[in-house]
Amino acid sequence: MTRSYDTIVIGGGLLGCATAWMIARDGGQVLLVERDQINQHASGSNAGSLHFQLEYRMIERGIEAARTAAEAMPLHLDAARLWSDLPGLCGQEIEVKQTGGLMIAEDAHQIDLLEKKTEIERSWGLDNQMIDRAEIDRLAPYLSDRVVAAAYCPTEGKADARTAGPALARAALQAGAEIETRTEVTGLSRQAGRWHVAVTSAAGATTVSAESVVIAAGVWTTRIGQMMGAHLPTIPLALMMTVTQRVPKLIPHLVQHAGGRLSLKQALDGNILIGGGWPARLIRAEDGEPNFGAKPELLASSLSGNADMAIRVLPELSRIPAIRSWVGTTTVTPDQLPLVGPVPGQPGAFVATGGSAFTLGPSFAQVLAALIAGRQPDTALTAFDPARYGRQ
Ligand SMILES: Cc1cc2nc3c(=O)[nH]c(=O)nc-3n(C[C@H](O)[C@H](O)[C@H](O)COP(=O)(O)OP(=O)(O)OC[C@H]3O[C@@H](n4cnc5c(N)ncnc54)[C@H](O)[C@@H]3O)c2cc1C
Repeated sequence: MTRSYDTIVIGGGLLGCATAWMIARDGGQVLLVERDQINQHASGSNAGSLHFQLEYRMIERGIEAARTAAEAMPLHLDAARLWSDLPGLCGQEIEVKQTGGLMIAEDAHQIDLLEKKTEIERSWGLDNQMIDRAEIDRLAPYLSDRVVAAAYCPTEGKADARTAGPALARAALQAGAEIETRTEVTGLSRQAGRWHVAVTSAAGATTVSAESVVIAAGVWTTRIGQMMGAHLPTIPLALMMTVTQRVPKLIPHLVQHAGGRLSLKQALDGNILIGGGWPARLIRAEDGEPNFGAKPELLASSLSGNADMAIRVLPELSRIPAIRSWVGTTTVTPDQLPLVGPVPGQPGAFVATGGSAFTLGPSFAQVLAALIAGRQPDTALTAFDPARYGRQ
């Protein structure tokens, strides 16, 4: 007999786990299916930055692009609140520290960009302000003298990417969700008002059914969309990160740069994480399609470019050995705005993805859980509506 649920969540990254937990907490019968292990992909290999200011990738094309990206600010504001409440709400230990974030500038052009960006963010309600070098000396004396100004957002910070997803999976299980790992969704069809989801695991192939399905499949979102005939365009990005050995407390903030790809932060155990969006090389299959199952290749130019930039603004780093670099694959949307809401033309199907879905994962999950429960989400979704890309 076909097992049946209220909702099937496809994907066991941070987003899928948070969504399954929130649906189960609301009393829904939910099954989460994950092809590999919980948190095995982007959610477990990211930098853990909780960035609520617009990121460099959103401002590098100028202030008009920043204005568009700022339409996602309500989701950023929700995420800032949700992350700080998350450990208490889900009853799990999650390492979250919101001790402030600085986006730094080294020249007049970057200061101008930061000033305009900050004004836009403040108009959406983000607590963010420009600070000068004297204030930087007080707040962040570890930064090099080259840093002449910064935008300071007190709610920014970091969370431990290795443990946040698994903690939310435990919360989901405790709330009554079922989780099946090493179980791949291979087909989706809608019959008699229900979704029939074909899954394959070591136990064989079977079908489970549900009133609704949630696509929380990260970089695989477009492919899952294709299984149901939906057009959910995403762009894969392979990225790299580096971590140093443990050192005494040095950087209490999340540091980003207004003029290039850089993020810096120090984990609770003392390691400094260096990243910010430097590319790795996606592995492609013979037909040219990206192979998301294969680890991307580390690029020497990214390794040195990221290190140069990090040392330039934090000279102390030149004396701290790096111990590991790694790569992962994430996704952004063609217009950089999140893709969140009902899947067009597919009743009972919902999706969420987009860049920085670690930071925004709890906000996305809250929206999805509301839609599934038939509630109007608190956030207006028009700008994120997957239907903006049209049907296939
Ligand atoms: C190096 C790096 C650094 C980053 N730094 C940051 C950062 O500092 N801050 C930030 O906010 N974001 C960051 N990101 C982005 C962030 O990691 C992702 O946006 C986020 O983790 C996506 O979470 P997710 O749950 O949507 O997807 P994922 O974590 O990718 O999970 C999707 C899951 O779906 C599963 N799946 C796919 N297809 C199927 C199928 N057919 N059947 C069953 N399961 C399936 C996959 O196996 C996977 O586990 C970074 C990404 C990388 C790679």
